[in-house]
Amino acid sequence: MMLENIFLKILSKEIPARIAHEDNLCLAFHDINPQAPVHVLIIPRKVIRTHADITDSDKELLGHLHWVAAKLAQELQIEDGYRIVINCLEKAGQTVPHIHMHLLGGRNLAWPPG
Ligand code: 5GP
Repeated sequence: MMLENIFLKILSKEIPARIAHEDNLCLAFHDINPQAPVHVLIIPRKVIRTHADITDSDKELLGHLHWVAAKLAQELQIEDGYRIVINCLEKAGQTVPHIHMHLLGGRNLAWPPG
């Protein structure tokens, strides 16, 4: 079940997070329950509930999130192998109703994912 949008409280700094990157379009912060040595969440400031809600006007924003992911992979020294995951809706494991990109690395990542 999707919980409340706790990421709004992280965006407003009401809830603290270990921030990895911040700009006018997005915020990136370390996951509270990391699934790999590096596990960062990249979220837009704009509220988009799920990947399935992306519209034409979001194309540039989504490209920006990917650019931030590639930059962070370099900075966090996982550029030799990393994975980007977006869980879309409950069936795929999405728990927070605010689109977010998981950036995972620092270990061998099995395929296929569960
Ligand atoms: P989802 O399951 O929706 O794809 O991913 C949500 C992610 O948000 C999970 O990996 C979870 O650990 C992370 N998360 C949930 N609440 C918080 C929080 O308050 N702070 C941080 N840093 N991460 C959170």
